[in-house]
Amino acid sequence: MTDLRIIDRIVPGVSGDVVLIGFPEDEGVRRNGGRPGARQGPARFRHWLSRYGTAENPEEEPGLSGLTLTDGGDITGASLEEAHTNLCGKVAEVLGQGGVPFVVGGGNDQSYPNASALLGQPGLGPVGVVNVDAHLDVRPRVDGLAHSGSPFRLLLEDERFEGRNFIEFAAQGSQTSREHADYVRGKKGRILWLSELRREGPADGVFRNCLGDLAWRCPAVFVSFDLDVLASYEAPGVSCPGIVGLSAEEALAIAYHAGAHPKVALFDLSEYNPAIEEERTGRLAAGLFYSFCLGVARRLSHRPAG
Ligand code: MN
Repeated sequence: MTDLRIIDRIVPGVSGDVVLIGFPEDEGVRRNGGRPGARQGPARFRHWLSRYGTAENPEEEPGLSGLTLTDGGDITGASLEEAHTNLCGKVAEVLGQGGVPFVVGGGNDQSYPNASALLGQPGLGPVGVVNVDAHLDVRPRVDGLAHSGSPFRLLLEDERFEGRNFIEFAAQGSQTSREHADYVRGKKGRILWLSELRREGPADGVFRNCLGDLAWRCPAVFVSFDLDVLASYEAPGVSCPGIVGLSAEEALAIAYHAGAHPKVALFDLSEYNPAIEEERTGRLAAGLFYSFCLGVARRLSHRPAG
């Protein structure tokens, strides 16, 4: 058997080096006035993952060999609130076993329950968060309810989190209000506009610098990735496609560097909406998981024996 794919290396379970979790909910997108469909994201993601990514990538050392990959299944609930609670519990369980969760949504509202699971790990110390997103996602709750535009406001309001450990990466001023940018800065968070990072060099290099800055004082970092950070010709299957944005190559490199960094404890991927566009965006989402896993394999190849 020389033609194994990454999918052949994934077994059911919640104990592994990387643990895939699906969050098939888009009620949070609907509450935010977006287009529904992301609830089909995890199922279609798994479909495209079954067609993408060789297990023995001849371009990469060590490739995926030696990496334990599991699929913890989908997390749902009778309401979005219950689904968030269940998701937080599942992510906490995986983290407690030493695995790195890779959570595929679903709407971006998943990111607060995911962050909350990391913040709740006993004795961890400060948590760093990078939101790779065209938007800031710091809108207030609507009628007291969380939605896909509110996860990072909920994070910044959480007393377990320090705003200076938050980076908004590749946001676009044309898609965010001044009030929300002021809010992030008022909480001591950092906004790295897309236009600004373009002046600094390739996005993946700037991203690595961001991880380095956070890792200096944070023992654990959460990387949250909204597919609408890509230009719409690269990833049209999202609720709110952008005219400009990151390229697919930059996105794959960012996922790889996130996987390879020893402090990255958690990754989530939001807003894949196959009802709007399925294949191009689905292959890209699968590619992000694959690149992340290659990165984790690189990270663990430096793990001391025993
Ligand atoms: Mn978002």
